[in-house]
Amino acid sequence: MTDLIVAGTLLTMDPDRTIWNDGAVAVADGLIQRVGKKADLIAEHPGVPLLGGDNCIVTPGFVNAHQHLTGDRLIRSCIPDHIPAQEAIYDWVVPVHAAHTGDDDELSATLSLLEAAGNGITTTVEAGTVAHPERVAAAFERVGVRGSIGTWGWDQGDGPFSAPTAEVMDAQRTVVETYPAGGLVAGWVTLVGHDLASDSLFAEAAQLARDAGTGLTFHMSPSTDDGVAFAERSGRRPIMHLAELGVLGPETLIAHAVHIDDDELAVLIETGTAVSYCPWAYLRLGQGVSGSGRHIEFLARGGRLALGCDTENAGDAIDPIRVAALAAGLARDTSDDPASFGAHAALDLLTIGGAEAIGMADRIGSLEAGKAADLVVHDLTGIGSIPNSVDPAMQLLWSGDGRAVRDVVVNGVHVISGGRSTRLDHADLAEEATASQHRLLDQAGLSPAPRWPVR
Ligand SMILES: [Zn+2]
Repeated sequence: MTDLIVAGTLLTMDPDRTIWNDGAVAVADGLIQRVGKKADLIAEHPGVPLLGGDNCIVTPGFVNAHQHLTGDRLIRSCIPDHIPAQEAIYDWVVPVHAAHTGDDDELSATLSLLEAAGNGITTTVEAGTVAHPERVAAAFERVGVRGSIGTWGWDQGDGPFSAPTAEVMDAQRTVVETYPAGGLVAGWVTLVGHDLASDSLFAEAAQLARDAGTGLTFHMSPSTDDGVAFAERSGRRPIMHLAELGVLGPETLIAHAVHIDDDELAVLIETGTAVSYCPWAYLRLGQGVSGSGRHIEFLARGGRLALGCDTENAGDAIDPIRVAALAAGLARDTSDDPASFGAHAALDLLTIGGAEAIGMADRIGSLEAGKAADLVVHDLTGIGSIPNSVDPAMQLLWSGDGRAVRDVVVNGVHVISGGRSTRLDHADLAEEATASQHRLLDQAGLSPAPRWPVR
């Protein structure tokens, strides 16, 4: 029995990239039942609730393949932006993470996921900096979105979340067993990465992901620092060392991989290792992506690439269309080729391409019968959207952003209506967030101040 019809210009992202004008998607039991003309579907299913309609574009839900859901969210735009990235991380982000209670983790993740959903993201890969995974899983359920979670994985050097390898692996195993693959929230193996994992932790983590049939994700080489650290440690470049340890493969999603050499690029492609590309972070933190990034070359040579919004103090907005437009602009500027990688390629990464890179293309990423009903309705009646273009991909990517998102459906459930949660009270969340921000900064001993005089 059909539960819902979602209508508009459909960007299906199916293998032919079919667009349906006056199209509609029929939803039943959380799945896409049929894709067709709006008039036909309404005639077949009289009386079924309708979302969208004229002047709307319907896309698959977007994939955010790298997002920190806790820590930064509650101190967004508080960390000065004129200090080195390492200082921002170790003097600000880590102490604030350490002050997080379970309640803070759930609140932070709820805010992040709600913002993400309001901008069209229905699937989020958490980046592995979570102290209370059960509370972050609860946030996914509250907001009603799909994604993966892990917990801190860090066994080298000092830090509030560094632990012996066996303890780290026990925590990873617990998350993977508690949230098996296939659910709305799936457990992944998540390491911080960089030079904060021993060889045995990297190798055991990869083995656990393979045994459990789930994903492994970690950070590597957003700046040149990891290359220097691995040269001292192993005499090899980071990705070559990980290849030697057996860490690369289709289940592995590496966040960043900005500074990689020819051999590293080749081995990532050969092993089917996926990469999450977060261009706002590299620009915000000044990490040299416009000169050194090779993500588009990686993609063009068959690499599995997805986009990520990273974290609030390295990009500041969880808005996938902003990220995709930036990726397209950077690709053209760095290649000096105005005809390369445009709106359509960027939308691929947000939908079916991103879904493939995180191993979920069989379930999400396109509007096709049998896939999960994860749908976004973009409202094109605003003054900035009229007159509408004949090419909805161009319109969304180059002139749009998350503000046009009106309705979001995840697993057949209507979770965002008119840009707001259908389940959570925004005013209550705002009050909780402000109180939590003040307490966290206080506990971490941090006093952010505006750089300009305040009267
Ligand atoms: Zn990250």
